[in-house]
Formats: sequence, structure tokens, C-alpha cells
Amino acid sequence: MKLHTENKVKRIIIVLIVILSVLLLLVLVNFIPTFSLKTNDMSVLVGEWVNVYYEKEESAAKDVFEYADSETGKIARKLGFSEKQNVNIYIYDNQSTMQMKKYGLIGPLLGLDWYIGDNIKTNVILTSPANPGKAHTYDDNKYAVLHEIVHAYISVINPKIKLWLTEGMALYLSNGDEFHKEYIDNFGIPSYKDTQTINPITFSDCGGYTFAHTYIVYLDDTYGWDKVTELVETEDYEKVFDKSSKEIYNEWVSYLNEYPQ
Ligand SMILES: [Zn+2]
Repeated sequence: MKLHTENKVKRIIIVLIVILSVLLLLVLVNFIPTFSLKTNDMSVLVGEWVNVYYEKEESAAKDVFEYADSETGKIARKLGFSEKQNVNIYIYDNQSTMQMKKYGLIGPLLGLDWYIGDNIKTNVILTSPANPGKAHTYDDNKYAVLHEIVHAYISVINPKIKLWLTEGMALYLSNGDEFHKEYIDNFGIPSYKDTQTINPITFSDCGGYTFAHTYIVYLDDTYGWDKVTELVETEDYEKVFDKSSKEIYNEWVSYLNEYPQ
């Protein structure tokens, strides 16, 4: 009887090990495309501020390259860089390839039509404007590159920066400071907890893409750009502002509530 139970336990353990191994293997196989951002036969354009790797869609790649290289200089200088950093842009002819480079084989199966570009530390991945995907146009993809480049440069300064700050900076430096008071009525101001999230979907759902840049605008107007860059580097609110991050959050909320029409 005892022997019988022991055999049963052994069999269960073996089955569990097999299931676990298969799962691990699937995860490993899934992430194979992320091991290298380069695909076969990529060409490169080397610029003053960025390098662009591309597949076959050469004219779209050149267009992105010229735009990105000419716009990045002033942003990089504003962030305190006096020279080029190791920031590389990889442009893929198919949206599915781009999506696989961050999330693996499962990426294109997630149905994220709007997902056309991203950054992975100092690397930017982008879907070629020549085949922009269902949800976007040539120009959407082309101009999205600058937002991702800001993330890449910011990650040189602080690789572990909070989502709220890096998105705020990327939105502000690539798109400017446009904001309308009616957004507050339409979306509501993100809560303090929302501003602390590490989840990009929570960030998007709370209105992060509508509000995060105004946090940077508020800090810049009130405390000056040097303090903004110091915060990006250290995230030490007490040291930079002599205030807690909650106090700064409350100040920003008051600023938004008093926003002119
Ligand atoms: Zn972003």
C-alpha cells in the first residue's frame, strides 16, 4: 500500500516537471525574436545624433532618419548631453516584426493595432511608415520616433525612471505643451496612485498620455528646468524640491484646477 502511494507521488512529480519544462521551453521560444533587434540584412544610416537600422523600405527609413537626426540635437542638449549617445533606431517593414522584438512571438497575437513603436532602454523600435499598420498613417509612425528617442535619451540619464516622469518628458519634449481645460472634465485628473504606476496600460487608461506632460510643464514653470532635469536624474523629491512627491502632486492638481480656459 505504501509503495503504491509512493509511486503515485513520484508519477505526479514527473508529470509536473514535464509540464513545467514544456512551459519554460515555450517561454524561451517565445522570446527568441527579442534576443537581437537586428534582422537579416539590415542597412544602417549613421547620423550626428542617432543611427537608423532598416530593412527594405529605404526611402521611408531615410525620411525618418533625416527627421530624427535633425530634431534630436536640441532635445539631447536640453537634457544636458553635449554629444551623441549610443541611441539606435530599428525600423521594421512589418508591424508584426516590431511587436515581436519587445514581446516575442506572442506580440503580434495580442491584437494591438495601435502599437507601432517602443523603446528598449537606449534602443528604439519602430514600424516603417511605409507600412504603418491598420490604426495609423505614414506620418503617425514617422513622428512617433521622436517620442521614443526622448525615452531612449532619458534612459541614459536614469534607466530605472518612473513611467510617469519619462512619459511626461517624452510627451513634452516631442509634442510641446498643448493642453485644454476641458480635458479635465472629460477624463478627470489621474490620481496620485495612477502617477506611480509601472503598468503602461494603467498609465494609458488613467489619461496619462493627456496629462503627464503638464506635470513637467508645471515643474518647469514653477521650479525651473534645472530642477526638472535633477528630478529626472535622481527622483529624489525631498532633495530637489524640499517636498514629498505627494506634496508636488497636490500642487500640480491645484495648478490644473486653476488652468485658464
Ligand atoms: Zn512613451
